[in-house]
Amino acid sequence: VSNTAAAPGPELRRDPLSGEQVIIAPGRLRRLLATRRTRAARAESERVADCPFCPGNEHQTPAPVLELAEPGSLHPWTVRVVPNLHPAISTQRPAPSGADDLLRGRAATGVHEVIVETPLHNQELLGRGLASTLLLLEAVQRRLKALDARPATRHVAVFKNMGVEAGASLEHPHSQIVALDFVPADVRRRLQTARRYHRANGGCLVCALVERERQAASRVVFESDGFIAFAPYASNSAGETLLIPRAHAASFTEATPDARERLGRSLIDLLRRARQAFDDPAYNLVLQTATSRWQPDAALHWYWQLKPRLTRLAGFELGTGLQINPMAPEEAASLLRSATD
Ligand SMILES: [Zn+2]
Ligand SMILES: [Zn+2]
Repeated sequence: VSNTAAAPGPELRRDPLSGEQVIIAPGRLRRLLATRRTRAARAESERVADCPFCPGNEHQTPAPVLELAEPGSLHPWTVRVVPNLHPAISTQRPAPSGADDLLRGRAATGVHEVIVETPLHNQELLGRGLASTLLLLEAVQRRLKALDARPATRHVAVFKNMGVEAGASLEHPHSQIVALDFVPADVRRRLQTARRYHRANGGCLVCALVERERQAASRVVFESDGFIAFAPYASNSAGETLLIPRAHAASFTEATPDARERLGRSLIDLLRRARQAFDDPAYNLVLQTATSRWQPDAALHWYWQLKPRLTRLAGFELGTGLQINPMAPEEAASLLRSATD
């Protein structure tokens, strides 16, 4: 593997979307992949007796807020959305204790739901086919709409942790959706960056970035069906990829069934390439999307972010808040472009 093409030495790059800096320090890719301990652990059984997400154990979760079934399926549900039994945030509002001007705190309120993606314990997204993936995207969109309609909601986070290294605490394939009654600092920064760009240039930052990356081409993985996948210029982790609809839209809630289908195909394509290029990694998949309270829509543009988990945080990152990415995004894109099943 050649890594001399575009980034000969360490570079300090700035992410135009988040404003964050990152050190791109290529040349350590082969060692990185060679020393990675294991590929993502895989479940072997279709059904696990004590798994709360397996069929037959539905009583172990709170009552579902949504169930969708694939036509002709053997199971009563294909995708099942339930409130998280151990939520990171809650709808209760206990008074924060001991908070004052110096130690500031408030109740962390919102709604935390789990999307059980399949009845089969060992059926990861790539083993499922398009129809099941489309049901997952439909469930995400429907819950996003419902949670966005809560008067208190200020941000909705949608994500999937695949593999222990990516933070998955339960093996059964699932995604999560968290409605927060506040805007996290990092999200607020992204929002302000997009608005500032819109005020200064009269357009959408993400649309401009897409055009810039299409021109450069070196970081583009593929472009198809109205979607583009590229490794961002200032990727703060190895192999990071953005999957963006070319048509401008602020929120994923606006995606038509046709757009969801094209997204599903592109997502499967991207995950297949990542599995091949990075040796079946654990990964996080994150949806960046506006809530209806964020304005103006012309400044905001939804997209998915794929982060294979190829490295771990170490002291430098913890001490400086500055990530070192050992794989230039140009190199990641090249690996993903040439990956085939
Ligand atoms: Zn299970
Ligand atoms: Zn846009």
